[in-house]
Amino acid sequence: MTLIVQKYGGTSVGSIEKIGRVADKVAAQAKTGDKIVVAVSAMSGETNRLIELAQTMSLKPHARELDVLVSTGEQVTIALLSMALNDRACEARSYTGSQIRMLTDNAHGKARIKDIQCDRIRSDLDAGRVVVVAGFQGVDEDGNITTLGRGGSDTTAVAIAAALNADECQIYTDVNGVYTTDPRIEPKARKLDTITFEEMLEMASLGSKVLQIRSVEFAGKYNVPLRVLSSFEEGEGTLITLEEDNVEQALISGIAFNKDEAQLTITGVPDYPGVASKILGPVTAANIEIDMIVQNIADDGTTDFTFTLQRSDYETASKLLTQVKDSLGAKKVIGDVEIVKISLVGVGMRSHAGIANTMFDSLAKENINIRMISTSEIKISVVVEEKYLELAVRTLHAAFGLDSDAASKSR
Ligand code: ASP
Ligand code: MG
Repeated sequence: MTLIVQKYGGTSVGSIEKIGRVADKVAAQAKTGDKIVVAVSAMSGETNRLIELAQTMSLKPHARELDVLVSTGEQVTIALLSMALNDRACEARSYTGSQIRMLTDNAHGKARIKDIQCDRIRSDLDAGRVVVVAGFQGVDEDGNITTLGRGGSDTTAVAIAAALNADECQIYTDVNGVYTTDPRIEPKARKLDTITFEEMLEMASLGSKVLQIRSVEFAGKYNVPLRVLSSFEEGEGTLITLEEDNVEQALISGIAFNKDEAQLTITGVPDYPGVASKILGPVTAANIEIDMIVQNIADDGTTDFTFTLQRSDYETASKLLTQVKDSLGAKKVIGDVEIVKISLVGVGMRSHAGIANTMFDSLAKENINIRMISTSEIKISVVVEEKYLELAVRTLHAAFGLDSDAASKSR
């Protein structure tokens, strides 16, 4: 017997017709004898609509009430899907987050799951029913409704799969898997059959928005086999696995990029202990997240200090840095918002030298100047001018044998 948790995202349940199609699919699979739990999102656009409603009602909607409001989107889809399943002679029951007791902390709008009570789900499954659970929502210890953050239905599905020890957690969405890079930038991008949790985390945090990052962390931690696949097309999708199970073993699994970056530099900083913290302190105190940080050796007693941050924080951070510059007696503050970060991601990097050099060499041949470089065990990132984004991604995609036509040769 196989126990599967499936999650259908907003676009997959975006209309009555589409919910009907999901019901056809689930009912057909249930007939094969599989036990199925389905987690659903709100119909596409619905969560945004509810948030807008709240903002029209109140300048500063209370977080508790906002959760009461936005959680209704998912309540609609669980009911509709269960009706559709029952009509197809596939017995189904819907549950809200609080009904199954998806217990979370009380951080409204970004709650974390603490515990799931699976008794009701288990007894329904044993009775041959499909269980339909509202994604994205939970309940805190005092019975308040909470939500898990945008895209949180992915995490609902993974958490249920972990709690039930399911054979697989399948995330049905509008793309048919995880790609080597964004096909809108490189049409030769190729769907991956497998990717490791670690790589997926890097890809997700670097801006490929297939899965909520937290769901990947959760799946990795509890070792839940996670598969991303299309609701609309047949296919195996992409399986996210532990490294040992990964048969693909390419050097590089994918190229991620982030356009939402800006760069700030403070030059001529006197070099003494505590300077770095004096520079970043005010920025962090303003709740601005820093990404890459580079500081060089001071040769003449002063150093340059550069970091990247989200573009939307640039103006604020730049003002703060100008104040810091004056108080430290540094030379000047320079910055740029027209930059992008491009990263090679691959667990294969661990055991192979020379990847960084191939990367830098390929970019040099295209005359693309690298502004910053940072590396981690399974990732090399460079910052380049935004106008080079497409050229750089395509160049690297080809250089590392990721192009769809070169795929068979490199593997
Ligand atoms: N409906 C929520 C959102 O739009 C949760 C989800 O779809 O995963 O973010
Ligand atoms: Mg989503």
